[in-house]
Amino acid sequence: MLSKENVKLEAFNVNTLSEVIHERRSDILGKLLYDVVLSYQERLLVEDLGDRYSRQRKEASFSCPVCSGRVFTRKGKRNRIFKSVLGRTILSIVQVQCKRCGLRFCPYKDIIGLVYRGRISEGLKRRQMSLTCHVPYKKAKDFIELCLGVSVSPKVIREKIDKESDLIRLKALTVSDDVVYQDSTKVKAGSKERGVSIHLAITARPDGGVSGRNRMQKRLMFLKSGNSHSIRESLKALNPKAIVHDGDMDLSGCASKLQRCLWHLPHQLGYFLWLDGLSFEDRKPYVKELIDILYQSRTVRIMKDRYRNLIDKLRRENLTSALTHLERAEGEISTSKENYFDYHTVSPVEREIREINRRADVGARWSVPGVENLLLVKTYERLNGP
Ligand SMILES: [Zn+2]
Repeated sequence: MLSKENVKLEAFNVNTLSEVIHERRSDILGKLLYDVVLSYQERLLVEDLGDRYSRQRKEASFSCPVCSGRVFTRKGKRNRIFKSVLGRTILSIVQVQCKRCGLRFCPYKDIIGLVYRGRISEGLKRRQMSLTCHVPYKKAKDFIELCLGVSVSPKVIREKIDKESDLIRLKALTVSDDVVYQDSTKVKAGSKERGVSIHLAITARPDGGVSGRNRMQKRLMFLKSGNSHSIRESLKALNPKAIVHDGDMDLSGCASKLQRCLWHLPHQLGYFLWLDGLSFEDRKPYVKELIDILYQSRTVRIMKDRYRNLIDKLRRENLTSALTHLERAEGEISTSKENYFDYHTVSPVEREIREINRRADVGARWSVPGVENLLLVKTYERLNGP
């Protein structure tokens, strides 16, 4: 492939040589691609039409789209521009003419993967889409252009992401006999000033500690915006063994077992005590006591008894917001310990929430489906990808 015509050098030097080859890779490798694709089609033509210049009349494996005729003659070839990871290259597709009605067409377009919308390779689109999951559309386009010498318009990538997210949604995921960790975050999208909530549900298991770091194997179950009714329905559809959540939404009935995040529960208590009028200093002992109850109790029985005592204390002291908070969570404080869940907080999902915020906070206001689709593809690729 490397000939004097396509690589000219002043003096021999591997650095310049590699740069020159890289610079000209579209020409060099494009020529290879052109030859392989054309000779493959010519082989098919011999099978379908017989040898060139032979007088035999052979029936082809394909038929004329207009008259269904099956006898054809060769009618040269047409060039097509093809954008791929090799850059902008040219491919040739052979043409035939129908003996009966005279129609000219390219019979092998589909076989070689060059359908009308296929002038941009899937591999190129996929690479640019993966990058778009991390950086803005325009930046991803510039990076791909720099690295591959060719890129795809943001509009094409948007369509690709929409298609990809539809495919992900079609996969009916259920998690029977597994614990789901659920959390949500606000992103700046839609017409409402506060934006929309993006909810996600994942499963998580420890994946063996590598050099002291706790690794997790996570799987995305869903990522969507929507009101609490539709989130509850989605959670129910997963049919999980249990749900660990932060208590922002009432999830009763969504799973047979529920667990409040043991990090959120005491920290939210601080907020409710503030609503009840307590100063920062006065709130501290209650929060400390609850943390001690949740983390230091020797048995679940003791934990529940101490929790009840704290509730009674709040009632006596007429701290009604804090009281309601603890009462609402009372049945969901020890599920994870009694059933030996791997995690007692929503921390497995919080890392994903941070990733989502990092991509969504770009200063622009998103459309709701636009941001939801992008975040779905991004998170799915991160967690469920190969
Ligand atoms: Zn015809």
